[in-house]
Amino acid sequence: MQQNIKPLKMPHLFKINSSGRSGIATENLVTGTSVYGEIVINDDDIEYRMWDPKRSKLAALITKGYVPQITNGLNVLYLGAAAGTTASHMSDIITSGVIFAVEFSSQPMTKLIRVCEPRRNLVPIFADAYHPEEYLLMVGAVDMIYQDVAQRDQVEIALLNSRTFLKKGATLILMLKTRSIDSTAKPADVVEHEIDKLKNDFSIVKCLDLRPFHKGHHAIIAKYKGIGS
Ligand code: SAM
Repeated sequence: MQQNIKPLKMPHLFKINSSGRSGIATENLVTGTSVYGEIVINDDDIEYRMWDPKRSKLAALITKGYVPQITNGLNVLYLGAAAGTTASHMSDIITSGVIFAVEFSSQPMTKLIRVCEPRRNLVPIFADAYHPEEYLLMVGAVDMIYQDVAQRDQVEIALLNSRTFLKKGATLILMLKTRSIDSTAKPADVVEHEIDKLKNDFSIVKCLDLRPFHKGHHAIIAKYKGIGS
């Protein structure tokens, strides 16, 4: 089989073009398993899990050409982990860091716990992201917050958690669903308004519309100025 596999600017992340399959993939941390029915490719004793940009907003961001600085050893607070689709790829990437995966709905949580079991760096937390005090003792200071909660108060949740956990200069990746905030306003106006709320605490690095993979979603990448800024 003709395999064309090239590393991207992130550990354990690759661009694959193999026998009609093309896209990004992560090196499987738990070989012999797939998490959500994704295609697994073997090459030279390495197992790659294809990462579908339609199933994951982080994969969409990377596929659209923006590779965020997710490096090995980072500790990440992931808000809105659902059943662990994106979190599992993050766990492939940050092999020596820890991802604290917060989810408040019991159905996806049951699946998330199963995904976390063989992954030493993925910790499920059954809690409401509106109440960081519920996981304060478990998490501590983090190098990154990744948030995908599709709630009306998405920015307020991000601010609350950033002020509680995020280190100064660390990154917030906020997947903003504009329809959850205001379904009648123009998406561009909603994004501008929500970004304004972040500006006191964050320097905005990038804002990217995730179409065609996720309609009505924008990825906002921002650097935390630190408490008291
Ligand atoms: N990030 C996931 C992925 O890419 O695999 C998909 C997340 S899904 C769009 C949003 C998730 O956020 C849902 O599972 C929902 O239950 C969860 N959620 C919404 N509000 C939450 C909150 N306040 N605290 C914790 N989880 C929340």
